Amino acid sequence: MKYVYFFGAGKADGRGDMKESLGGKGAGLAEMMRIGLPVPAGFTISTEACDYYFKHGCKYPEELRAEVAKHLKHLEKLTKKKLGDAQDPLLVSVRSGSARSMPGMMETILNLGLNDKSVEGLARSTHNDRFAYDAYRRFVQMYSTVVIGLAKEELEDRLRALKNSLKVKDDTAVPAEAWRHLVSEYKAHYKQKTGKPFPEDPEEQLWGAIGAVFESWMGEKAVTYRRVEKITGLLGTAVNVVQMVFGNTGDNSGTGVCFTRDPSTGEKTFFGDFLINAQGEDVVAGIRTPMHLKEMAKLMPKVYRQLEGVRERLEKHYRDMQDMEFTVENGKLYMLQTRTGKRSPTAAFQMAVDMKNEGLIKLEEALERIKGEDVERLFYPVLDPTLPRQEFASRRITTGINAVPGAAVGKAVFTAGEAEAWAARGERVILVRRETSPEDVGGMFVAQGILTATGGKTSHAAVVARGWGKCCIVGAEKLEIDAEKKRMSSNGRVVSEGEWITLDGGDGSVYTGEIALVRPEPPKAFATLMKWADQVRKIGVRANADTPHDAKVALEMGAEGIGLCRTEHMFFKDFEHPEKSIERQQAIQEMILADTVDARRKALDKLLPFQRRDFIGLFEVMNGLPVVIRLIDPPLHEFLPKDPAKQEALAKDLGITRETILRRMEQLKEANPMLGLRGCRLCIIYPEILEMQVRAIIEAAIDCQKHGIKVIPEIMHPLTLDKKEMKILEVATRRVADDIISKAKVKLPYFVGTMIELPRAALLADEIAEVAEFFSFGTNDLTQTTMGLSRDDAGRFLPEYVDERKAAILPADPFQSIDVPGVGMLVEWGIKRGRATRPKLEVGICGEHGGEAESVKFCHRAGMDYVSATPFCVPIARLAAAQAVIEEKKRKRK
Ligand code: PEP
Ligand code: MG
Repeated sequence: MKYVYFFGAGKADGRGDMKESLGGKGAGLAEMMRIGLPVPAGFTISTEACDYYFKHGCKYPEELRAEVAKHLKHLEKLTKKKLGDAQDPLLVSVRSGSARSMPGMMETILNLGLNDKSVEGLARSTHNDRFAYDAYRRFVQMYSTVVIGLAKEELEDRLRALKNSLKVKDDTAVPAEAWRHLVSEYKAHYKQKTGKPFPEDPEEQLWGAIGAVFESWMGEKAVTYRRVEKITGLLGTAVNVVQMVFGNTGDNSGTGVCFTRDPSTGEKTFFGDFLINAQGEDVVAGIRTPMHLKEMAKLMPKVYRQLEGVRERLEKHYRDMQDMEFTVENGKLYMLQTRTGKRSPTAAFQMAVDMKNEGLIKLEEALERIKGEDVERLFYPVLDPTLPRQEFASRRITTGINAVPGAAVGKAVFTAGEAEAWAARGERVILVRRETSPEDVGGMFVAQGILTATGGKTSHAAVVARGWGKCCIVGAEKLEIDAEKKRMSSNGRVVSEGEWITLDGGDGSVYTGEIALVRPEPPKAFATLMKWADQVRKIGVRANADTPHDAKVALEMGAEGIGLCRTEHMFFKDFEHPEKSIERQQAIQEMILADTVDARRKALDKLLPFQRRDFIGLFEVMNGLPVVIRLIDPPLHEFLPKDPAKQEALAKDLGITRETILRRMEQLKEANPMLGLRGCRLCIIYPEILEMQVRAIIEAAIDCQKHGIKVIPEIMHPLTLDKKEMKILEVATRRVADDIISKAKVKLPYFVGTMIELPRAALLADEIAEVAEFFSFGTNDLTQTTMGLSRDDAGRFLPEYVDERKAAILPADPFQSIDVPGVGMLVEWGIKRGRATRPKLEVGICGEHGGEAESVKFCHRAGMDYVSATPFCVPIARLAAAQAVIEEKKRKRK
């Protein structure tokens, strides 16, 4: 196996399309060399070597040393210099680079090959002592920290002390003698810490650096970055050993970073920074303030023109925005890196649309360029990126699972009731709970953001918050919440009710204080690109929405109907008149507490008008588009108040004792409520609930029809497991519906269908489809029941299951991205069997997966008719649906 790829003198072993093996940087260098751009010579050790290293207990492949030696010789021959030579030494940089760009996550060592002898040679050959010793101190510093792991701060402190003693600010003002002194100080420090002298042998230095780059692949930051960015399936990092060119030889030299377009706005302007008389790391580290490229154009017009030429050439060549690093050494330009540049979500849309319009890329490519996260991040407010990051670190209280991105600022409150009370006074609040339940929904609705100590990404808090596009952090396990004393604490820090906190749903951080937020405006390009996506996609996109307000947002986001209306959410909140919520809450609680059918019916009669009015609101907004309404689903105990004061108040209102409430709660208590009396089982046991809900739906539909609004209700039963069960529900549904329709003397088409949320239902889908007119896969529950993972608790340990350094059992959280091999198999089976019975069976998905790009692509492949996502995820689904078509075409071509 070949592990090392050479490039130099206009030729390269590798190519730009070999990113998997050579990493982005290695592939970019090889390609730039091939197309004749000025690139220093060097070689790339492939990612396969890194893969081998980690698979064999951190050992290199046997042949690697010989291969590296061979290519180093070649490099020495080409440059007519020798590594570590006492006269005119070759110096190299050793830099990481994986197939996907992970900026700043892995390591780099510059000026390698310097020692006490070669530094003298460098000084002589460049006639520049100051430069040579500056390079040397940088190398010793980088080697000590990156390869050996000594603390950076101690070395930085010494550098600062040196500059203070010299009364200079800039590194460029430090004379050679002082650098020489610093090098000996660094070396003494090295010896003291490691017990060994600093390595003088350049070969030892080289292998130390190669090892450090490999190791950085599994470093904490790199692993975290891959997890957050969902980067999987890579072999490792490549190592690029490249002849050093120097931007710090004097005022005719410099170094810079530039982008072929503006990475924040997407605008087609040359964007970048340049530092005179500096090495690359100075730009990144932000020690000195660099100049804009425009100024560089004035100072070095010839080099600038050449750089502009490179910009044009590379963007055309790669047909995408490039992020480039360059160095000017004594007036000569060298390109050190080119890679596809990272961009803000706004820029991603702008560039994709512009590049398509410029003819640089095709429409399909423009669609492929946008990631689900780009869409999501476009809409959420974020922490003001111009604020200094250091400030954040000292304010961090804790971190949890970043369930819904964006950011939120508000005063901490610890009960839903307080949240509502504070919000009614015009305060912005963050609701902090151990976990949330449906009775918290009012408080959740008025809160800016939600923070819970338990739960995962499909916990109640996360699902509800996502639906509203509200920042939410769950599973902040270190948080101790004392709702009674109205405070929380973590790491010894206490936050009491009313104190400001800020949530960053992007990374799950919780901060004290009020940090400024900005809400990005979706750019025009967003609408253009979404229109293109709709032209390409085949699968429909609906939304999960429970209220007219959500339905409106869903339409704005491009939804073509409602795929799931969770009717129980209506029991708790009057979204039109929040102050009247108490009426419906009491009615549902009265219904639950009733111990006779008559008493239950009486309570249900009170609920009927509320539900009917809510459905009318929903139908009005959707005006003719399909609306899937699911009957009651959660276990009843979730609707009863847990707070003693609220229990007391309820008892008083209903004219019963609190003891009666407690007794009823005790009766309803279940060891496994998720597997208990919930879903359609509620309507099997209490058919009067079904009667009320179906009545509300059908009466609302008839009312709308009379006002010229077209309605096609789809009545959906959750959690069915059997044809027999479904038949009972279907008969009951039709009996109520048909009776109302015939009495009203109208024609109203409606459908009766089911959710598929249990493996048994999927397995027996052919039988269920004899009764059900449509299926909607409830993949939240189907994942829970197929994998035997609690959707509310698994968040505690799933990170370990996913972490590539830990158990690495699953590639992703199955509650987020559908488990294609397992749950997916049941879905495919269910569709196939269902359609074997009923060829035109309408099939959709309404679990959280309907708004996640990879899962949407799966749904397309599985042949579903539509996906249904929370309103803010609708654009993600539209885009992913289009990408699925493009990917399918590519597969077929192959
Ligand atoms: C599901 O289980 O996927 C679903 C949509 O229902 P819920 O999340 O309300 O249980
Ligand atoms: Mg469900």
